[in-house]
Amino acid sequence: MEPFDFDTQAVRAGIERSQFNEHSEALYLTSSFVFESAAQAAARFSGEEPGNVYARFTNPTVSAMQQRLAALEGAEACVATASGMSAILSLVMGTMQAGDHIVASRGLFGATQQLFGTILAKFGIETSFVPATDLAAYRAALRARTRLFFVETPSNPLTEVVDIAALAEIAHGAGALLAVDNCFCTPALQRPLDLGADLVVHSATKYLDGQGRVLGGAVAGRAEVVEEVFKFLRTAGPCISPFNAWVILKGLETLRIRMEAQSASALEMACWLEAQPGVRRVHYPGLASHPQHALAMRQQRCGGAILSFEVDGGRERAWRVVDSTRMISITANLGDTKTTITHPASTTHGRISAEARAAAGISEGLLRIAVGLESVDDLKADLARGLAA
Ligand SMILES: *Cc1c(COP(=O)(O)O)cnc(C)c1O
Repeated sequence: MEPFDFDTQAVRAGIERSQFNEHSEALYLTSSFVFESAAQAAARFSGEEPGNVYARFTNPTVSAMQQRLAALEGAEACVATASGMSAILSLVMGTMQAGDHIVASRGLFGATQQLFGTILAKFGIETSFVPATDLAAYRAALRARTRLFFVETPSNPLTEVVDIAALAEIAHGAGALLAVDNCFCTPALQRPLDLGADLVVHSATKYLDGQGRVLGGAVAGRAEVVEEVFKFLRTAGPCISPFNAWVILKGLETLRIRMEAQSASALEMACWLEAQPGVRRVHYPGLASHPQHALAMRQQRCGGAILSFEVDGGRERAWRVVDSTRMISITANLGDTKTTITHPASTTHGRISAEARAAAGISEGLLRIAVGLESVDDLKADLARGLAA
């Protein structure tokens, strides 16, 4: 569906109707497929004839989701996985080997840091973590066997913005791939492949579903690289269930309008929070006060739906704000139509040492909000109670 715009692709890309000519995308709950003959079975197995064989490699509902997400990211190819973490694992397993090296931005999603820092290290793949916005640090971390640059932008929870185009140039100069975890912005707000990245990874669990129902993940990008990821996936098996793929496929239809509405509310909340007494600082790429505001406005359509802010009075005051909410959900999750609030220092970042937390800028008074689709007035009222207390 190359000539169509994003909005058209979001509702129509990937459709392949069955003999019943259904209008809405069908959900194929089948683990295997039958062949017309022994010769066809052989041709399908050898790959000579395209078609479905077994749901660990292919399923029409999963294919539809992959094609739609590929269209939205502007990718040649896409493979879906059971979760965001299995997407990241499959990306590494498909493209790297023992002795290779990763350069990653600091402050990645906790499980990604664990995967790179602890699990991959056991198999001889080392990772250097560098400050997310320091381009010289990425260059300085390069080694002869650096094969992959991996970043999240904006970062969690401080919304630091990485210059994707500049980093793509550094990575390619070193013969490495650049992968961007596009979970926070989604292709509705940011298209890393257009900016020079080779691969995009997703936790589809977040905004792509957008309504907190299922887990899923995806890797999208250049066909020959995605093919290597697919080879790992079809053999090792961290594949997505057709049901989850179907939920995400339908979630993609409303992705842009959700992201724009939630981002508009987030901007309004960020401006309001900046003016509240007792709020020391607001981290949101859409604010002029954000250190990478200009870059963010160049590479993102808007600031996104996630912001964080620091209150005076440390943990005690931050917890009071959390506990004074009556409507906002207290959870570490994000990417939902329901607004969530998190105290990173005691939850998502609770297992790292206090010194490391302080060095990373995660203060005791920091709170993260992932803004949903509720009325902004209700959200303000729910936070105002705790801020005033
Ligand atoms: C949640 C998340 C992941 C992991 O995704 P799962 O679907 O939970 O496995 C990876 N990256 C980011 C930025 C996330 O927020």
